[in-house]
Amino acid sequence: MKDFESLASHTQSVLTELRGGFGKKPRASRRALQLLAETVEEVEVDENDTLDSLRQKALRCIKCPHLVKSRTQVVFGVGNPNADLMFVGEAPGEDEDEQGEPFVGRSGQLLMKIIETMGVTRDDIYIGNVLKCRPDMPEGVSGNRKPKTDEIQTCLPWLRKQIAIIKPKVLVTLGATAVKALLGETSPMRDLRGKSLDFHGTPVIATYHPAYLLRNQSISEKRKFWEDLMRAMEILGWPISAKQRGFFLSK
Ligand code: URA
Repeated sequence: MKDFESLASHTQSVLTELRGGFGKKPRASRRALQLLAETVEEVEVDENDTLDSLRQKALRCIKCPHLVKSRTQVVFGVGNPNADLMFVGEAPGEDEDEQGEPFVGRSGQLLMKIIETMGVTRDDIYIGNVLKCRPDMPEGVSGNRKPKTDEIQTCLPWLRKQIAIIKPKVLVTLGATAVKALLGETSPMRDLRGKSLDFHGTPVIATYHPAYLLRNQSISEKRKFWEDLMRAMEILGWPISAKQRGFFLSK
């Protein structure tokens, strides 16, 4: 961060000088040019990355200047680096941007309940998002917006590499953005649910985003979500009790 700050401060002074219209050309010191080169270079994914080195780079990513400006922090992902099960959401919301962890807000609380219903904890799985920065909102406007196509394309290498390093046995995509970003699938969720999908050989279960279940409180929609997760458990070979099989069935 020190390097980044010193680079930003040098850039600012050069721009101020330019704006002042002084007769002499703005000059960048060798050190500033070297810092610029390192900063740009360091945020590229490379084949030798570990989850930790990838995280360090992602935290410094400045590829979407508008998001750099609005974000509190980059939300890289959290969980077990050897997880068999990985969830992929859309993008951090306000709570995630504040706390630096995916799915810690209302959607996250619902997701955690369902994960516990599967018989595991947050530490057994891995959770990441398509976008690592919260999509910016106009000043004074609350809520969240969907990531734009160019933001997704710019950010996707981080997620692809996370998946390549973690090598989960099953990927669960939450909502339309995640399945579109990873597989290019744009069909409605009702058609994608239950379909055999894969990302470079890893089975993908496409299901609803928990935010949808918060908006639609019907037990039948919760049951569909739960059936998708039981499908993930079956692929993973996790035991499913009779009690679990009966969850969210209307009486
Ligand atoms: N919604 C997402 O898609 N991801 C989060 O991290 C939080 C809410």
